[in-house]
Amino acid sequence: MLLPFRLDDTDVAILESLSKDGRKSFRQISREIKISTPTVKSRYDRLVSIGLIKAVLPVIDLGKLENKTGQKLDHIRTNTIRNHGVKITKEMLIHLKCDYCDGPVHGKPSMLRFGGFERFFCCTSCRGLYREKYKGRIESLSQKQ
Ligand SMILES: [Zn+2]
Repeated sequence: MLLPFRLDDTDVAILESLSKDGRKSFRQISREIKISTPTVKSRYDRLVSIGLIKAVLPVIDLGKLENKTGQKLDHIRTNTIRNHGVKITKEMLIHLKCDYCDGPVHGKPSMLRFGGFERFFCCTSCRGLYREKYKGRIESLSQKQ
């Protein structure tokens, strides 16, 4: 079992593939990196559940737009978050936030799995409190599995 806060080659390959085109299907990614579609899907879900993939956004070609004064947008400083030039490697550590108290998770997180979700906590007491708070939801999600 991999530690949840470390990426491996599969995660890195998926992230690289998505950073080129975020609208790719799991099947396309699967073909590209030669890993089965269910594996791509479960890894993708995990990257979303740990908060590393926030959203898959279209890549907008700002050079195709101009503002009211006829200035091309790619010459204007924008607040666009760019992934370009940042190479994701498996040596990188993912900063996990506690799903209960929102504090940083140091070292090995406490985990809770239910209905295909994974939640991470800074300590076992946060995990206990979360489990208590979302008891009904956790139980109903677990039954679906
Ligand atoms: Zn906590």
